[in-house]
Amino acid sequence: MALGKKKYLLIIVTICVAFLYIFGKTAKMYLRPAGRPEQASPACETRTEKQGEGQVPIEPNGVEPSNPHTSKATVKVAKVIDGDTLELASGEKVRLIGIDTPEKDQFYYKEAKNRLKKLVEDRDIALEYDVQPADKYGRILGYVWMNDAKNPEQEIFVNKSMIEEGYANVYTIPPNVKYVEIFVQAQKEARKVGKGLWNEKRPVSDFYVASRNSNVFHRNTCKTIEQISEHNRLIYKTAGEALDEGKSPCRTCRP
Ligand SMILES: [Zn+2]
Repeated sequence: MALGKKKYLLIIVTICVAFLYIFGKTAKMYLRPAGRPEQASPACETRTEKQGEGQVPIEPNGVEPSNPHTSKATVKVAKVIDGDTLELASGEKVRLIGIDTPEKDQFYYKEAKNRLKKLVEDRDIALEYDVQPADKYGRILGYVWMNDAKNPEQEIFVNKSMIEEGYANVYTIPPNVKYVEIFVQAQKEARKVGKGLWNEKRPVSDFYVASRNSNVFHRNTCKTIEQISEHNRLIYKTAGEALDEGKSPCRTCRP
């Protein structure tokens, strides 16, 4: 019976296709390295290349890793020294990396310090490292993560939050550049709405100066610019122009 044979064949083909499909999925699962998502974002891939395999755990879910700080157990903050430095209960100092906040007597110093204080003082934090775990002064270089007191489900990425709210500017020193794109984006948004450091009371300069050979820009009144030779000088009308080009504010004149 032709019809019976056809039915029989169809069933066999269906079984074969189903088997191949299931087998294919299982094989894929085993072939994928443990813990890696099937579709890692391009950002994650770049990070892997930069840091080498196995140094830093990679989390799959987009821009912000959900819980990346496996390198150090939770630690307690004893006090805040300024907007980008804190002291742990152990006595160790931590410099938040990728950011910089004003020094004493500079515009927005107190505000930045108070903000960090309010966020982390007497609280438990988790530290994530970049390539260098400490600086030449022996301070831990860290990304600081903590639970949001108001919403325990939510994590706060303190370094990013300080930039986002306008208390800090981006200040990345290679090779510790893991989150530079995220930080620059956060700074753009803070500047766009004139938050904090970027508000209209920020003292402005007639113009700003940078060297072609440096990543830093200055107010026109900064002494450092005397050392920049005429033909290496770059002039900007606004601080924004220099920031958009990726220059960082001088830490003395705070343009
Ligand atoms: Zn300067």
